[in-house]
Amino acid sequence: MDALHGTGAAPLTDALRETGVTVRRAGPGDAVAGVLPRWVALPGTTEEVAALTRLSAEHDLAVVPVGGGTKLHWGPPPERCDLLLDTCGLNQVLEHASGDLVVRVQAGVTTDSLAETLAARGQELSLDVPLAGATVGGVLATATAGPRRFRYGTARDLLIGVTVVLADGTVARSGGRVVKNVAGYDLGKLFTGSYGTLGVITEAAFRLHPIPGDRRWITVRMPAPGPPDGDGRPGPLPGVDALALELAASQAEPSAIELDWPDLRDAPTVAALVEGSAAGDRAQAVRALMGEYGTARVADRPPGWWGTLPGDEPLLELRVRPARVGDALRTVAAHGPPARVRGSVASGILQIALPPDVEGSAFAGFVSSVRDGLGPLGGGLTVLAAPYGLARRVDRWGPVSALPLMRRVKERFDPGRRMSPGRSVGGI
Ligand SMILES: Cc1cc2nc3c(=O)[nH]c(=O)nc-3n(C[C@H](O)[C@H](O)[C@H](O)COP(=O)(O)OP(=O)(O)OC[C@H]3O[C@@H](n4cnc5c(N)ncnc54)[C@H](O)[C@@H]3O)c2cc1C
Repeated sequence: MDALHGTGAAPLTDALRETGVTVRRAGPGDAVAGVLPRWVALPGTTEEVAALTRLSAEHDLAVVPVGGGTKLHWGPPPERCDLLLDTCGLNQVLEHASGDLVVRVQAGVTTDSLAETLAARGQELSLDVPLAGATVGGVLATATAGPRRFRYGTARDLLIGVTVVLADGTVARSGGRVVKNVAGYDLGKLFTGSYGTLGVITEAAFRLHPIPGDRRWITVRMPAPGPPDGDGRPGPLPGVDALALELAASQAEPSAIELDWPDLRDAPTVAALVEGSAAGDRAQAVRALMGEYGTARVADRPPGWWGTLPGDEPLLELRVRPARVGDALRTVAAHGPPARVRGSVASGILQIALPPDVEGSAFAGFVSSVRDGLGPLGGGLTVLAAPYGLARRVDRWGPVSALPLMRRVKERFDPGRRMSPGRSVGGI
């Protein structure tokens, strides 16, 4: 047996500390989705991450990165976890080229502190990630986007460069130095949404936007669903998809069009954001469009639910073409347990929160029936977060056509399966 894995882990602890990085033994509070690591390391530079990762490769240690820890319970638990690599020390804004609308940051910078730095020069990263404590690395690794994804795209669209450390300790940069074993890959696109399974993101550069001088939110309570049909299935939800499509195409150019539907038997609310020049006039145009469905109101603050998730767990994500959102929502309503639905109606990406005490069979039934209903609509449903007892009853991801390709990428980047093993689709 490798002496370092034997009776005492002390030699390995020493070897980890010889990298110059602060390393401590893990405690119960460090568990990742219930799996306890052996050590926690707090590197402050890309080179330190590389030194830790190289050592982990030599001793076959499984590495899991952690940012703010706000969504560490998302996705399946890691198959194993030796070293938790905490990015809180990678907390520097490296360069803010405000004239070029570009910022380069270390991965452990929180989105709140980045927003503060950028606001001082009247700029922002248009991502809407309000979860206090979330880091740039965590947001990229989980491919997060909030309401304004409709206008500005998601993290990968705003990302213009990334530095990552691969499983063998190689440092690779997109758009920069070509590293032989990753030449030809778009690292930014691959690592966005990778859940830490391909390597550790240590730096990222983003395209920025000026903070709009003016913002208005326009809100309308839509008509309630029609009466149930003969089989007891809920009636159609009048107008949600038509309104979303009309708004999306309108000259008022909203930045976001969101839905909040807290009670599936009752009326949902649709809210749109307009920002920038002539926001007041454009808000009136949006109000006129919305006024065909109910009483529309204009405010200079977002509704309380805006940009927040509908719940903690179980939390699911539905994706469908925007034109089929109305049908998709009807499918959800038909198969509820009571659910709360919220999200970007114009992008066709909505999150669904189920009651925390939902029974295993009701949960599994909901997931499979909604998936069946979404199939003909070309949509899909994934489980973002759920207690293990529930999640093991279903396929978290559903069918993923790119899975063979993703497996090949994993094999190329992490053949030893040591980077967050098992945390992504298909057990990658
Ligand atoms: C579709 C969607 C919508 C969302 N909407 C919202 C919203 O509206 N509001 C909101 O507040 N939040 C939202 N979130 C949650 C958002 O993802 C979290 O705020 C964020 O991911 C947490 O960052 P963190 O630093 O706490 O990461 P952690 O919770 O620490 O880690 C999350 C994952 O990223 C990995 N990881 C962390 N750092 C790195 C790194 N440097 N390199 C590689 N892997 C890493 C971890 O191993 C883990 O798998 C949404 C997420 C998704 C997917």
